[in-house]
Amino acid sequence: MQSYDVLFEPVRIGPVTAPNRFYAVPHATGHGWAQPMGAIALRAMKAEGGWGTVAVQICEIGPDSDMANHPMERIWDDGDIPRHVAQVEAIKEHGSLAAIELGHGGARSRNITTGRPVIGPSHLPVLRSEVPVQARAMDKADIRAFREAHKAAAERARRAGYDILYVYAAHDLSLLSHFLSANTNKRGDEYGGSFENRLRLLREVLEDTLEVAGGERAVALRFSVAEPDKPTGLRHDGEGRAVVEALAELPDLWDVNIAGWPADSQTARFSEEGFQLPFTDFVKTVTSKPVVGVGRFTSPDMMVSLIRKGRLDLIGAARPSIADPFLPTKIRDGRIEDIRECIGCNVCVGMDSYGLPLRCTQNPTIAEEWRRGWHPETPAISRGRREHLIVGAGPAGLECAVTLMKAGQKVTVAEARDEAGGRVSRESRLPGLSSWARVRDYRLYQLSQSADAEIFLSSALGKDDISAFGADTVTIATGATWRRDGVGSSRYEPLVGKADDTMSPDDIMDGALDDQPPATFVVYDDDHYYMASVVAEQLCKLGHRAIYATPQSMVATWTGNTLEQGRIIERLQDLDVEMHVNTTLIAPGRFENVLNGQHTEFDDTRCVMVGARMPIDTLYADLSEAGNIGALFIAGDCVSPGTVQSAVLSGHTVARTILDDESLRNHLRREQLIGAG
Ligand code: ADP
Ligand code: SF4
Repeated sequence: MQSYDVLFEPVRIGPVTAPNRFYAVPHATGHGWAQPMGAIALRAMKAEGGWGTVAVQICEIGPDSDMANHPMERIWDDGDIPRHVAQVEAIKEHGSLAAIELGHGGARSRNITTGRPVIGPSHLPVLRSEVPVQARAMDKADIRAFREAHKAAAERARRAGYDILYVYAAHDLSLLSHFLSANTNKRGDEYGGSFENRLRLLREVLEDTLEVAGGERAVALRFSVAEPDKPTGLRHDGEGRAVVEALAELPDLWDVNIAGWPADSQTARFSEEGFQLPFTDFVKTVTSKPVVGVGRFTSPDMMVSLIRKGRLDLIGAARPSIADPFLPTKIRDGRIEDIRECIGCNVCVGMDSYGLPLRCTQNPTIAEEWRRGWHPETPAISRGRREHLIVGAGPAGLECAVTLMKAGQKVTVAEARDEAGGRVSRESRLPGLSSWARVRDYRLYQLSQSADAEIFLSSALGKDDISAFGADTVTIATGATWRRDGVGSSRYEPLVGKADDTMSPDDIMDGALDDQPPATFVVYDDDHYYMASVVAEQLCKLGHRAIYATPQSMVATWTGNTLEQGRIIERLQDLDVEMHVNTTLIAPGRFENVLNGQHTEFDDTRCVMVGARMPIDTLYADLSEAGNIGALFIAGDCVSPGTVQSAVLSGHTVARTILDDESLRNHLRREQLIGAG
């Protein structure tokens, strides 16, 4: 068996020492400064789970870096310090180092709350095209004030007890990146023009922060070495490398990645584990300081190889630490199969777009550590042992079963199909979605470890079977089917009588078009998440021609939240999929452009409708009506169809309801500043 000992070696970072190589990098949790209890509990959970270093997300250094409505951390003045002290103590309680990412959003700030002018290197619109505001070019006094503000924030962070103070120049989200980049820096003074001039402010702020750290705290530089999505962005073999060479020995730690965020947080549909390494690999060859990098690392073997080959010193993780806060502990204990591997879906990232606390497809307890008191590993408390029947082995049914089983209950799962996993098994066979199967695999393995859990496949149960089974509780988790009749988010009336001519994603997943002669299909996206684009890809893979149409003004609108939209469009372009937006279906094969009223007919085509789904809830309705099941529950897509994440959360919540878990007796705990109990 592979030895993972190397991952548990301490690593010296300047004057401090990380107890192991697991490094939870800064990432948004959605709590921000206004919901500290939730944020602290989430980060403390990672420390408890064995992450040797736990970093806090972007922390605004002052009021002219006001990034609201994005819920960032703040360390504007001394009034913020007690919250940070509590955070540091909660992280250190478990022996981890606490790190803080001090940041100034520069031309990415909006300053809506503070009403201050947005500042940047040059007079240019802010780096958010949807916000009609310009950044003001900083004069020398502004630059001096910024440096003082950064030093003051670093001093407050030092006083709060953080071990590692960050200088942040990444993701195009930092004033320092804006000065560095010739795209945004149009200055003619000593802070603009040549590379050395554009680098000047970053170097000065690094030196300032080292001065504050005073040899007692480490200073990390978070730097994006490349911007592969930007035609004129940084290149890891160009100025990105030049920055690392110029500052090589200055910071105590290099935290490196690629920018912008859609490049940094790529989904599994578009990138493999370790996708950033080709960009960041060079850093270790340029500096003697420790280097942490990311790339959705979940495989312990890969982690060991990265360390042994000298490609990284610390294994950085945001998403893998969300999906499994206990990943390091499980590796230490040799419980590799117990790791709840991130599936790379970016539902977590999507919550940040909403400015809300995280949700995760694999980990239903994330962001519930404080408000519900949920723990990802400690089982829910159960009183007495009962026998539970769960009908349907999709994400909802499996999560419900695992949660009950871990609480010491006896569970039986009946599944109609000859494989478990429900929608994740089916969808995982579509292009780019193979990692969806991890939702099934983690839970099947957990169930396989208990003598108290049984799964019966090819077992479609009817209401009489269920009554005869005689379980103490029955949970129906029978899922949903895609509609073919044109009902979707922009049409609530079916296209009468024409549904037979159309197809649905279920038909595609059932193989209805496999081995069929090549034909043309219009994939009508009135769902707006990933499915329509994936179906179009699948059709192309099968040798058919796909035309994509949607009533929305953009392709796969919701995937803007998961940072996939640009890559989806590129992929459809590569496959020669014609794309029509603002295009509403008015009859099968007939579409209207809502902007100009023009009609388009697609002759000799069939339509694949990707719109609404119907819950499969007749079994639940029949059992409710019969009234002979004492304790009947319903979970997942058969309650209301949604994401895999919502099905998992539903299954988890229903299990806790069955257990009469205390956390569900009241509403969610809220962070109340006045009248808090
Ligand atoms: P969810 O996302 O809510 O878990 P899925 O559609 O992924 O829903 O899974 C539901 C599962 O329930 C499917 O695998 C389906 O085959 C199964 N199922 C549906 N009806 C029955 C039934 N009567 N008996 C057993 N299994 C069923
Ligand atoms: Fe990974 Fe998806 Fe969970 Fe995010 S939501 S951590 S991408 S499994």
